[in-house]
Parts: sequence; structure tokens; C-alpha cells
Amino acid sequence: MFACTGYAATAADARLAPFSLDRRDPGPRDVRIDITHCGVCHSDIHTARSEWPGTLYPCVPGHEIVGRVAEVGAEVTKYKVGDQVGVGCMVDSCRECESCRAGLEQYCEPGARFTYNSPDIGGLSHTFGGYAQAVVVDQDFVLRIPEGLDLAAAAPLLCAGITTWSPLRHWGIGPGKRVGVVGLGGLGHMGVKLAVAMGAEVTLFTTSANKAEDGRRLGAHRVVISRDADAMKAEAGRFDFILDCVSAQHDINAYFALLRLDGALVQVGLPEKPIEVQMFSLVGKRRTFAGSLIGGIAETQEMLDFCGEHGITADIEMIAMDEINEAYERMIASDVKYRFVIDMATMPKAA
Ligand code: NAP
Ligand code: ZN
Ligand code: ZN
Repeated sequence: MFACTGYAATAADARLAPFSLDRRDPGPRDVRIDITHCGVCHSDIHTARSEWPGTLYPCVPGHEIVGRVAEVGAEVTKYKVGDQVGVGCMVDSCRECESCRAGLEQYCEPGARFTYNSPDIGGLSHTFGGYAQAVVVDQDFVLRIPEGLDLAAAAPLLCAGITTWSPLRHWGIGPGKRVGVVGLGGLGHMGVKLAVAMGAEVTLFTTSANKAEDGRRLGAHRVVISRDADAMKAEAGRFDFILDCVSAQHDINAYFALLRLDGALVQVGLPEKPIEVQMFSLVGKRRTFAGSLIGGIAETQEMLDFCGEHGITADIEMIAMDEINEAYERMIASDVKYRFVIDMATMPKAA
């Protein structure tokens, strides 16, 4: 085992603070990555603050990891020292179940091993994420970041990118489809960029009137301020597909009304509390209400390669490690343009 410095929450109401953590020594199939940057996902906040059940403390969040390969095990064939790589929300899965064999490791039947807050191996209690100097990961769960993409701005592709890419692909989004994206945060802004690049007509729904101009700059063809009830009514029955990326309580029934016959609303946002669904707003037009969890490993590489070809990355605000607590407050206030990314060079040298 070797020690490195990270940032951890030690309780639901504690501010994140420097923390010394152990990583396993790389095994034959492992890659040790020196982390250069880590994106800040709203799931990090939900977990660190126990807004979802089951947080294990100390909690080191972070699953939008990028960096360079520093060491490889004897049997590693996919990567070599110096390669530009990433790690997303998963670091392993059973590899045998029907989901794993279908490349859908995120739906692994016994449960995927997530990058943080999952049981760990090698004598370590639970997994620690990317708010740290280094990480050790099996080569099969390491992604290649296309050369030419800015490493820091590519970090959010590892969660926000794949989480929006996967449902857009699964529901066959492309030219001729009318897509709505709800919430312009980390996920939402990637959803807009990717759906536009896939050729769809994209409408952004935002509660923040001051984001309308940015929404258009990011590629949205239309922007609707969702607090404007008349503007929402005017959109009724228009959409094939709506991707809801909202992190907090909101009226989802207002969006069902915007779907056409057989339209689908896919929820990727994971608010803390249950949301009420008015059944009449679904049955009337045979609408589908579904959820989607990140994406598989092969699919994540496909998304990264697509972003490499199209020059797509996130719009980021770079922060120092010790600015993380303020960044969380700004995200909760819907004030991030449009993903915070931690510059790991700012990590204190020893905790
Ligand atoms: P984020 O950057 O904080 O963005 C969330 C956005 O939701 C805000 O920018 C805001 O957009 C909107 N919003 C916030 N509070 C709202 C409210 N009370 N009413 C209406 N709209 C509100 O968060 P994120 O990192 O994109 O994550 C979004 C959600 O997805 C989180 O719950 C996260 O845990 C979840 N997530 C799920 C998966 C998955 O696999 N399914 C993966 C990653 C993240 P406007 O200002 O434009 O309204
Ligand atoms: Zn995430
Ligand atoms: Zn499995």
C-alpha cells in the first residue's frame, strides 16, 4: 500500500478537509494514475452530505478523474506510462453477469464497484474517489482520453458526458428528433452539446433566466424559462424526448405534458426526496417515464472518441482543492458555469 493526500468529508455536516488515504500497490492488471484534475459532480455533494442513504465515512468523492499513467502492472497491455487517461464512476464489476457481458457494467447484477463509497479490495475498507493525488484501477476500467482534448475540460466527460450520452443513444436521438434538456448544470450542459452534435433539435429548459444566452452559445436551438407558466404551456405535446438533469425537487408533471404521443422523459437527476407523478399526465399519450444510470465502459470510450472527433469538452471553472466547500455551495445555488474542475496540483503536499 502507499499513502497519498486527498480531501474527505468525515461526517454529513463536516466541511471537506485534507485527509491521508491508502491506495493498494498496483497488481498485475492495475494502472496507477497520477491525477491531474477531477470534476465536481452533484453526486459528490449528495454522497458527502448523506443526502442519499449509505454513505461510508471518511468519504473521498470524485468520479471525473483524468491524469497520466505513472505505473503499470506486468500484465497490463492497454496502457503505458505517460498515457493520458480517465476514470469515471466505476472501478470494477463482476464481469460475468448478463449486464456485464452486454457491456452494461453500470447495471452489474451483484453491483458494480463504484469509484467511491463501494466496498474495496486489497485490505482497504471502501473505495476513495478522485479528490486525491493518485488512484489505482484495473486496466479494464481505465479510459483513453483522445489527444487534442484539453485534459481538464475533458474530465467532466467521465460522468456528466457519459450520463447524458447513454440515454441519448439508447433512445435513438438524431436528426428529426425534438429533444428537451432540463437544467443547465454539469449534466445539462453536456446533454445540450451532445444532443446538438447528434443532430437533434434541442430546447433547453432552465429556471435561471441569466443562463439563456449561454444555452444558445452551447448550441441549444431554443431556450424556455421554466418558471414562465405560459411559455411552458406553449410547448405542450412538442417533444420526442426530454432529459431531466435536475438535482433538486421540481414539478416533473409539467414536463410530461410537453411530450408527444409515445414520447419519453428520462430522469438522470437524482433528487434526495421522492417526486410525485400525476398518472393522467402519462397515460393520456402513452408516454414513457424512465431512468438511466451513467453508461458502460465501451460506451464511455465511444463517447470520448466522439468528443475527440468533434472537439467537444465541458465548459469549466477551474478551482483549487481548498475551494471545494465554496464550490459545493455555488452548485447548490445553481451557480456553476458549467462544471467545477479541481486542479490537483493545488493539493496540499501532506495531510
Ligand atoms: P448541477 O451541476 O448542480 O446542475 C443541476 C441543475 O439543476 C442546476 O444547474 C439547475 O439548472 C437545476 N436546478 C437546481 N435546483 C433546482 C430546482 N430546485 N428546481 C429546478 N431546477 C433546479 O448538478 P449535476 O452535477 O449536473 O447533477 C445533476 C443531478 O444528476 C444530480 O442529482 C446528480 O446526482 C445526478 N447524477 C445522476 C447520474 C446518473 O447516472 N443518473 C450521474 C451523475 C449525476 P438551471 O439553473 O438551468 O435551472
Ligand atoms: Zn457524477
Ligand atoms: Zn456483473
